[in-house]
Amino acid sequence: MDTFKGKKVFGGIAIASIFYYEKDQKEVARRKVSNTKAELERFETAKGEAAKQLQALYNKALKEVGEVNAQIFDVHLMMLEDDDYNESIVNIIESQEVNAEYAVAVTGDNFAEIFANMEDEYFKARSIDVKDISERIVRILTGSWAKEDLVEPCIIAAKDLAPSETVQMDKSKLLAFVTKEGSTNSHTAILARTMSIPALINVDIKKEWNGKTAIVDGYEGIIIVDPDSETLELYKKKKKQDEEQKRLLQDLKGKDTVTKSGRLIKLYANIGNVSDIGSVLKNDADGIGLFRSEFLYLEKDHFPTEEEQFTAYKQVAETMGDKKVIIRTLDIGADKQVHYFNLDKEENPAMGYRAIRICLTQTSIFKTQLRALFRASAFGNISIMYPMITSVEEVKAIKKIVEEVKAELDSIGVDYNTIEQGIMIETPAAAVISDLLAKEVDFFSIGTNDLTQYTLAIDRQNNRLDRFYNPHHESILRLINMVVENAHKEGIWAGICGELGADVELTERFLKMGIDELSVSPGMILPLRKVIREAE
Ligand code: PEP
Ligand code: MG
Repeated sequence: MDTFKGKKVFGGIAIASIFYYEKDQKEVARRKVSNTKAELERFETAKGEAAKQLQALYNKALKEVGEVNAQIFDVHLMMLEDDDYNESIVNIIESQEVNAEYAVAVTGDNFAEIFANMEDEYFKARSIDVKDISERIVRILTGSWAKEDLVEPCIIAAKDLAPSETVQMDKSKLLAFVTKEGSTNSHTAILARTMSIPALINVDIKKEWNGKTAIVDGYEGIIIVDPDSETLELYKKKKKQDEEQKRLLQDLKGKDTVTKSGRLIKLYANIGNVSDIGSVLKNDADGIGLFRSEFLYLEKDHFPTEEEQFTAYKQVAETMGDKKVIIRTLDIGADKQVHYFNLDKEENPAMGYRAIRICLTQTSIFKTQLRALFRASAFGNISIMYPMITSVEEVKAIKKIVEEVKAELDSIGVDYNTIEQGIMIETPAAAVISDLLAKEVDFFSIGTNDLTQYTLAIDRQNNRLDRFYNPHHESILRLINMVVENAHKEGIWAGICGELGADVELTERFLKMGIDELSVSPGMILPLRKVIREAE
């Protein structure tokens, strides 16, 4: 029996034999050709076939995992038509007088490497997509197209999985994913969450696991290979309890998030991008308490235009209907770097030029986002919140800019709704002067991830400091209590959108403090609703 650790993508327990999935790694042969025109035609025909397959995959995904998740195949279709990608293939065929499959394979490898070396997490994740479409074209050209067939329910262990691979697998046979590579931001991870199956990444997978029995514990982030009979029995019991719990949680859908004494709590979800709305709806969140809008910037290689942002915000607002959608303005900087911002390297990025500090300095970036947000407000129930606030002066400066944006929109006759505006309380400074800040805004949302980092002076990115990073520290709990009290004195509401909001060990304590809202990852909505409904 061996236990291996990984990074959790989705919780749950699976017990089954491992299917070690390996892509056909055969080298694509390089052949000299005399008729390059014929090779170009072969490439065009294969591309057409690839487009057909991708369209079919899109339709299949649409039915099984919804539109937002199916969009990855739209991205593949777009990549297939990318000018640089196509030019490179044509160039190799013509200049080297070689076969089409070789040109496609080389281009795929080159582009995948370029993406993989990018700093931006979104583009890094695209590396696997460009490889995926190139392999598809090669398989068509070499006639080796074969669908991987899962014979019995299993745990898939793979170096990495492309979305087109996961979606083709028979879901009834797929109990868990364990991969060596991939990021929690990758589409495969998103699919795993949507399918609600346990998944781990960064696991040191081994080929010899193939066929062995294993247990994936997505809650603990471990895979136990070849478990002894005692462990197996223990996990069979755990799995049963887990399934029973999940079944019971389903009954909480459509029910109020209300304490026994009748106090309604706003139980909202945190999202990173538009594609997360599916799981927000599936888990029946009362609204969205934190839309980290910087992911729109992280996904692009240019400043997202007002129109691009408007479309994203509108889509979320419309999908959520009357439910509240709190969009946080750009929180770039520190660990979230975007190359086109051209930010200088800093000694202390977490305490550096970031978030609202950028927005208040480069106001045109801020105004573009605000215009998109106000325009989108006409299509739903949008609120805005501002990150990294430390002073009343910052809030006043924001309000001035907001008024300018509103005046601009008025002058051109653009409709917008009245928008509630709040701030994140994630610096000790903001918590300490929350009595003054409460007079200026409509709500507070406590960002416990940063509040813990700054209060305890511990870099939240440094996993060597994990044992010192204690969000249960009395100082944090006292600050939260103080913030809630100060909010209520001014008649505004206060919530928590940091990870601590989902910590069920503290729920009772937060409720006693009078917390009005908790915003957590979509998968934590129903477990938390249960705890709240059982509390006084
Ligand atoms: C926080 O700091 O608690 C928070 C919710 O924001 P982020 O994790 O995006 O910094
Ligand atoms: Mg933060």
